[in-house]
Amino acid sequence: MNLERIYLDHAATTPLRTEVADAMREAFPAANYNPSSLHAEGRRARAVLEDARERVASLLGAARNEIIFTSSGTEADDLALLGVARAAQRGAHVVTTAIEHHAITAALDELADEGLETTVLPVDRDGRVDAAQFASALQPNTALASVMYANNEVGTVQPIAELAAIARKRGVVFHTDAVQAPSWLSLDVRELGVDLLSLSAHKCQGPKGVGLLYVRSGVPMGSILYGGGQEFGRRPGTQNVAGIAGMARALELAALERNEQSGRVAALRDRLETAICATIPDVRINGAEPRLANNLNVSFAGIESGMLLIALDLCGIAVSAGSACTSGDLEPSHVLAAMALESPWREGAIRFSLGVGTTAAQIDTVLGSLPRLVADLRRPTGQMRGEWVDSERTARGWRQKLEQY
Ligand code: PLP
Repeated sequence: MNLERIYLDHAATTPLRTEVADAMREAFPAANYNPSSLHAEGRRARAVLEDARERVASLLGAARNEIIFTSSGTEADDLALLGVARAAQRGAHVVTTAIEHHAITAALDELADEGLETTVLPVDRDGRVDAAQFASALQPNTALASVMYANNEVGTVQPIAELAAIARKRGVVFHTDAVQAPSWLSLDVRELGVDLLSLSAHKCQGPKGVGLLYVRSGVPMGSILYGGGQEFGRRPGTQNVAGIAGMARALELAALERNEQSGRVAALRDRLETAICATIPDVRINGAEPRLANNLNVSFAGIESGMLLIALDLCGIAVSAGSACTSGDLEPSHVLAAMALESPWREGAIRFSLGVGTTAAQIDTVLGSLPRLVADLRRPTGQMRGEWVDSERTARGWRQKLEQY
């Protein structure tokens, strides 16, 4: 059994990078003060905040007053959806897709409760949105369309530039949730042609609890929090200056290393995928190209994904099953359901998400354990043979363990 932990859950979160921690430490003397204060201490904090804003804006090809710092990707998504829809005239219509993150789907439910008209676009069996279907969903009263850049579960990358161009022609504001993108895809808002774009620092080795929303100048958007005038009056609340400085550094490093890392990580992911398909029968790869370089979502028929997650965890390998857990529960995946996968594929899905620190040796270690674990879990209860199963860990034991999570 392998003792060194292998972390393959980078779509859930990434570890803070040393250079980012250093940037936050450097920011701290100034970040101890309130950037809205007029005295020297406050002005120093503001200088750090505004320096981060300039750098992030330049990475995205945006103007500094188009960057609104938030407390998370979730808040950026909520601000985009609720802020734009509520600023639109009564009777507005909002379009999104069936595979969005819960930050979007729950905000859309809220808008529907408030009486707005909503459309949720379907996807195909690979999780792709169809551009023609998107175009025909737009109505004269459509105020906003929101389509994620890349899916967090299956990694499918949507044709954002094409969809944004359709929306623009029809006078519809277009938002994209780009939270999973920074390490693997370009974030140039002019090339993408989007009006709003959400990011979260912790998906690219920045700190947790910091995000941003790019809002193209001129896009009507109300705020969803009420308080002071921070962030151009669009997001009140004292900013997390050190966290924002960390996010700027994390995004810069991600952009700098994007080409090299996406090639390297995609090659490791492909090796994992090819070997799984060659050594384990009855598997399905979920999601298709174009796909995030680090994502491999595989269904193992005849297995409950939670059981395999625990088995891998006990072998030192961290992955995710279904959607990332918010409450510690394993929820059935709305993404795999939207892709119309049959229940054995939905129930047996595991997401391996690699990161910039993933090595070939780690992938080999995973491949050394996985076929054995899958074969064992596919045996009828009581007949599991692998050395990782001791007498305490019968299928019932696994189930109980899973329930404790
Ligand atoms: N959007 C996507 C696609 C995500 O993957 C996540 C996080 O899992 C979020 C939004 C929410 O970001 P945060 O964790 O910063 O709230």
